[in-house]
Amino acid sequence: METIRTIAWMKEKAREARLEQRVIGLVPTMGALHAGHIALVERAKRECSLVYASIFLNPTQFGPKEDLAKYPRPLAADIEKLEAAKADGLFLPEAGDIYPAGFSTYVHVEGLSEKLEGRSRPGHFRGVATVVMKLLEIVQPQFAYFGRKDAQQARIIQQMARDLNLNSEIVVCPIVREADGLAMSSRNGYLNAEERKAATVLYRALKAAAGEAQSGVRDALELQTAMRKALGGESLARVDYAEIADADTFEPVVRVTRRCYALLAVRIGRTRLIDNLLLEPEGEDLRAEL
Ligand code: AMP
Repeated sequence: METIRTIAWMKEKAREARLEQRVIGLVPTMGALHAGHIALVERAKRECSLVYASIFLNPTQFGPKEDLAKYPRPLAADIEKLEAAKADGLFLPEAGDIYPAGFSTYVHVEGLSEKLEGRSRPGHFRGVATVVMKLLEIVQPQFAYFGRKDAQQARIIQQMARDLNLNSEIVVCPIVREADGLAMSSRNGYLNAEERKAATVLYRALKAAAGEAQSGVRDALELQTAMRKALGGESLARVDYAEIADADTFEPVVRVTRRCYALLAVRIGRTRLIDNLLLEPEGEDLRAEL
């Protein structure tokens, strides 16, 4: 697997691939790869003839008090995992190449970026949209792969792709979980043994909401209450938000009558974790996808 360290070289490689009619897939990541990232690479391998993963720890999406400095950077292990998944290349740009001195253009997806995650992390989605826009412009993949773990992020990127007439199709893939239900995340490594146990409360809370939904509850407040009750049972958990929101607008809903997400952001000790449940009406039933 080739590691490509400059934007100029990445553009050249992608240009050649397009001339050869290759179908390019891109999997953008911040590294510290786990099975959730690798599932994106594997999906891309099935659907594309040339798959690039990118690793870029994007400074503009971290707030001043967030974990940029301590974010894990296990590059050698990441490369091994990408090779095992048969990624064709790794795009590993330098921060100074992505944001050279004098950089001053940002992408802001209005409205969606201010809600939920955006409200808790001001400027976060501006940083995400900007770097993803740049990665999509550099590689120009036919398909770009994102995880539903970050449902609001995926929705914002889809909106950006639509609004700016990008040629990349945004593919959103299911959440990959540990055996006990905890959604895989590069941040799970921050948890000590006690916190790691406590962290399963997010999954239990979502499952409680899923159970209510499947037994016929459509009232958002009741679903929210089920989540809060489960979360309240864990003394290490501090809830940032636990909401039911429309899957397109991320506006809060009163009743689940169309596609919605149950969305959680919870601090376990000093680690902030997010997770979600997709609720999809199917006739009289409500499909719940964890
Ligand atoms: P990150 O490295 O955290 O920026 O994540 C890179 C991509 O992997 C994003 O599209 C995430 O949504 C996705 N991802 C992270 N964790 C998971 C997971 N547990 N399941 C599925 N996708 C994930």
